[in-house]
Amino acid sequence: VTVSPVDRPALLVIGGGPAALAAARGYRAAAGEGPVALVTDEGLAPYQRPPLTKGLLRHESARADLPLERDAWFADHDVRLVTGRAVALDAQARTVTLSGGRTLHYEHCVLAPGSEPTRLPVPGADDPGVRTLRSLADFVELDRRVTEDVRAIVVGSGFVGCEIAASLRLRGLAVTLVSDEHAPQHERLGPEIGARLADWLRGEGVDLRLGAPVARIVRHGERLTVETESGHAPTGELVVMAAGVRPRLELALAAGLECPDGAIPTDERLRTALPDVWAAGDVAHAHHAVAGRRLRVEHWGDALAQGEVAGRSAAGDDGAVWEDPPGFWSTIGRRTLKHAAWGDGWSSVAVTPHAGGAFTARYRDADGRLVGVLTHERDEDYELERSQLAGRTPVEAA
Ligand SMILES: Cc1cc2nc3c(=O)[nH]c(=O)nc-3n(C[C@H](O)[C@H](O)[C@H](O)COP(=O)(O)OP(=O)(O)OC[C@H]3O[C@@H](n4cnc5c(N)ncnc54)[C@H](O)[C@@H]3O)c2cc1C
Repeated sequence: VTVSPVDRPALLVIGGGPAALAAARGYRAAAGEGPVALVTDEGLAPYQRPPLTKGLLRHESARADLPLERDAWFADHDVRLVTGRAVALDAQARTVTLSGGRTLHYEHCVLAPGSEPTRLPVPGADDPGVRTLRSLADFVELDRRVTEDVRAIVVGSGFVGCEIAASLRLRGLAVTLVSDEHAPQHERLGPEIGARLADWLRGEGVDLRLGAPVARIVRHGERLTVETESGHAPTGELVVMAAGVRPRLELALAAGLECPDGAIPTDERLRTALPDVWAAGDVAHAHHAVAGRRLRVEHWGDALAQGEVAGRSAAGDDGAVWEDPPGFWSTIGRRTLKHAAWGDGWSSVAVTPHAGGAFTARYRDADGRLVGVLTHERDEDYELERSQLAGRTPVEAA
């Protein structure tokens, strides 16, 4: 029996998202040797997820722009893509088994399986007409159902829900957004920012039903009605559920990793408790070098940063640690927000308005320390406050 080198990779990465690709890049950047294999159940080379709710959904950007690397990059860096679903990891034997029974033997393994959308635990939430949006395949299926005469109901006022609602409006659909929150991101970002986001969505023509927990979703022929506990019952042909995500932990749990906080605990080099196994991206509960504690984030940029550190660490570079403050951008309709925060709450928020609707919100803890920043059209404030969060420039005395 001949064993192809891809069945014995020096670095085996489970996942095909940003954390997985960054792990391969980091491994090579730190002169990691031997074949690298990325196992992905999507059957696609790593691509950008953020446009799925933004430019791509508005038909303003193209699928051709999604790949994160050119095909040649994979060949040039001896990084192979393996299509398959990893179902078992044996850290003692250093093997990963795919669903068809194929077994890969690794020297180093990075777990980067990301997360998957959750559905509200209400009757009708699993109706096939209720869509979620995580992958390009989900996008294609959703986009197929989007025509101007369709009435869409978006459930959830997180960033993904707000982005989908605004993008569908820009496609000309009638859109209702239903959420149990009293304003989008009210708890996370405060009432003033929540009110601004609600105004943005109303300005785009989205019909908001806020403070309205979903009771059930009922099908009437081709139509679906989203009944809320507060008595609203918007009806449409398309329901998109954006009710949050859950890290994909099956492989880690089956391998014996304890995940007490719903994600895989790692140190600041993204090492897990298993020998030569790292975890990065949405699935990681990683120790942050500056915060001095573990953080859970679901951000594109942090998935890239963590993957890079994991890959470098796997190649033997112990100097790389996760240290940039977590942050993300969101584009709701035509407006972009930038947010960076440690992510475990705040005591006070001061919102400074600027000309033309721009603003900067600074979040502080009970001791007056900056713990987060949110900006719209104020990149200079975002950069400055983000670097202060990182502790790299002194906070100005008041
Ligand atoms: C529509 C959308 C828009 C977003 N927009 C933004 C944004 O604007 N800004 C921002 O910061 N964040 C955004 N996010 C969040 C961001 O995309 C995620 O935080 C990021 O993709 C996480 O990267 P990851 O590599 O950990 O996991 P993922 O990107 O989820 O990739 C994991 C990959 O692993 C595969 N996989 C899982 N399990 C297995 C297995 N057992 N075997 C083989 N393969 C497996 C999955 O199919 C997937 O391809 C958005 C997310 C979505 C869904």
